[in-house]
Order: sequence, then structure tokens, then C-alpha cells
Amino acid sequence: MSDSLADKLARVRERINKAALRAGRKPEEITLVGVTKTVGREVIEEACRLGLTDFGENRIGDAEDKFTPLPYIPNTARLHLIGHLQTNKAKRAVAFFDMVHSVDSLRLAEMLDYQCGEQGKIMPALLEVNVSGESSKHGFSVAELESQIAALLELRHLQWRGLMTMAPFVFAPEETRHVFRELRTLFDKIRNNVTIPHWKDLSMGMTNDFEIAIEEGATLVRIGRAIF
Ligand SMILES: *Cc1c(COP(=O)(O)O)cnc(C)c1O
Repeated sequence: MSDSLADKLARVRERINKAALRAGRKPEEITLVGVTKTVGREVIEEACRLGLTDFGENRIGDAEDKFTPLPYIPNTARLHLIGHLQTNKAKRAVAFFDMVHSVDSLRLAEMLDYQCGEQGKIMPALLEVNVSGESSKHGFSVAELESQIAALLELRHLQWRGLMTMAPFVFAPEETRHVFRELRTLFDKIRNNVTIPHWKDLSMGMTNDFEIAIEEGATLVRIGRAIF
């Protein structure tokens, strides 16, 4: 089996489709976000040619370096911020990204909202939840999110789309299932309590565990190593 980017991408797409069908879902409900944090421009350019449309980066500086100037990336490409953002970089993030997955505090949400107002933008955004409660991880605890959700929903320039989480690293991917299930439960609970017009996304699942995440309802999977 060859290891070209085309092959790896095709295999990941195939695994996404199979996991979706296994779970009785439509494969097109799931967006593959290629996480390009370990690769440079040439590889990104090739991925674009192979039809990848969504790209995830952890750090704003890296994303700016790799994705500008833009001519070599089709302007239909969407850039996702998936890593922790310091509040003092909210302005750059709003200017650069098409979606923020990693809104991990009310303070950050307020800064992003303010910058969107300044820049005349509405930003699709996800609330990052630290389901597993590991101290090394960013994100709202479930209790924090439930107590702050009303304040978050008042921020009119952020279009809340749903929730994001990172599962703990484990050797047996099956052990991550309960984390994804818990995020899904929280997602449903919020939807049942309040009407949020665009509330439809669960960003969960990485190279190790994306098939399990899809079985548990992921709509955005963030995959790096399996592709690049
Ligand atoms: C690196 C990273 C990914 C991709 O991880 P892989 O294991 O390479 O698939 C997904 N999400 C976040 C937040 C990351 O930092």
C-alpha cells in the first residue's frame, strides 16, 4: 500500500463513510477538518488539489504564516481555529478564521464578540468542554457551561453552532466513547432548554478515535496524523 497523501486522504474518507453508515447516519453530515499543524505550504496546497476544503490549526501565528498570502489556497477553503486562544489575540483570530472551535471561557467569548463587532463579522463558534476534567486541558467544565450558557448566548456576534471536546489520550480508543457520549448528552440538554438557531455541531474525534466519535454523533472530525 502506498503512502501518498492522496491514498491517506482517500482511506480516511472511506473510514468516515463507513463509520457514518454503521451508525445509520449520512456521510455528508460529517465534515473532515484536516489538521495541518505539522505540515507546510506545499502539503497544504496538495491537499487542496485533492479536494480537502476544511483546515484546522492550533496556533494563530502558524495559520497566518501558512495560509497567507492566499492565492494558492482556493477561496472556498475554510480555516478552523482548534487550539487555545489568548484573549489578546482575539482580533487576529476574528480577522483570519472562518470558525473557532476552542472558545473555552466567557472572557474569551466576550473578546471575540467585541472584535466581531469591530470588524463587522458574525463568527461561527463552538464551546469547548473539558468533559474528562483533566487539569491539562482547556475548556468549560460541564457545571461552568451550564451556569454561563445564558451569558454566552447573549453575545450577538458569535453564532453558536455547538460543542467541541478532546478525549483523553488512551491506548484503547473504545475508552473514549463515554466522553463523546457525555458531550452529546450535554449538547442535547442545551438544545432542549433553549432555542439556538444554528445549534447543530459536535466537533469531536481525532486520528485515534474519530470512528467512535462519528458513531456518537460527531459532525466535525479533526484529523491530523492519519492524513499528513
Ligand atoms: C492536533 C490536534 C488534532 C489532530 O490530532 P491527530 O491525532 O493528529 O489527528 C485535533 N484537534 C486538536 C485540538 C489538535 O490539537
